[in-house]
Amino acid sequence: MFMGKTALVTGSTSGIGLGIAQTLAAQGASVILNGFGEAREIEHLRAGMAEMHGVEVRHDGADMSRVDHIESMMARALAEFGGVDLLVNNAGIQHVAPVDEFPLDKWYAILAINLTANFHTTRLALPAMKRRGFGRIVNIASAHALVASPYKSAYVTAKHGVAGFTKAVALEVAEAGITVNAVCPGYVLTPLVERQIPETARARGITAEQVVRDVLLAAQPTRKFVTVEQVAALTSFLCSEDAASITGAVLPIEGGWTAQ
Ligand code: NAD
Repeated sequence: MFMGKTALVTGSTSGIGLGIAQTLAAQGASVILNGFGEAREIEHLRAGMAEMHGVEVRHDGADMSRVDHIESMMARALAEFGGVDLLVNNAGIQHVAPVDEFPLDKWYAILAINLTANFHTTRLALPAMKRRGFGRIVNIASAHALVASPYKSAYVTAKHGVAGFTKAVALEVAEAGITVNAVCPGYVLTPLVERQIPETARARGITAEQVVRDVLLAAQPTRKFVTVEQVAALTSFLCSEDAASITGAVLPIEGGWTAQ
């Protein structure tokens, strides 16, 4: 389905981004992986994906909190692939703490990586998408783009910002063959969620087991985690030709969380 297309998935060395990269590669896209990790493990991922799907796979270690890194990554994508056709803005971090104790460095990092990086990749990807008359931008937001939870002020702020950014850009490029959408997962059991279980337990004064049962899964009427595969399938659909009329949408995939 994506033969001849190039996908850039930010934050794709782990979790949801890795699942999305694998799904797009399986459908023929060349893939630019991005994200942190141990060099040998990343090379193992990269080579495995390329071999399994017979596609070109690169890794760019750009730090998404750094505009100079993002500019170099996008320039390299332009030079090596002629641009990015499928841009998935997925890199994200979380920190859980009461707002009056929220560490300043965490606030700025969450806003930079979860929100401002989307602005930089988008503005730098759009010229080539416009020249080609085709583009798909999928911003991995969160149920926290639609509703809030306590102790996640920076994350909720950034993700609500992603929803607004998605709609604004979708309107600007609607006639250019480019769609821009946000995907809003509920809880997916990735390292990002595993790390916040002890933080949430501390902030709320409860045990880790209580966090999973009474905080995470309590939010989702299905009482099940959303899976990486489900988020990847929705993202892949949004990248397809069949999804050409879906743009500016902020799509929940959260087991009914925001229906309550
Ligand atoms: P994860 O921690 O498993 O993966 C995050 C990825 O981002 C990793 O590849 C990491 O190396 C990369 N990354 C982190 N900081 C970076 C930086 N400065 N520059 C470049 N890469 C960086 O997390 P995940 O759960 O897969 O989350 C992916 C996205 O999905 C995030 O935007 C997150 O907010 C969103 N999301 C996750 C959940 C969930 O429950 N896991 C729910 C809703 C939304």
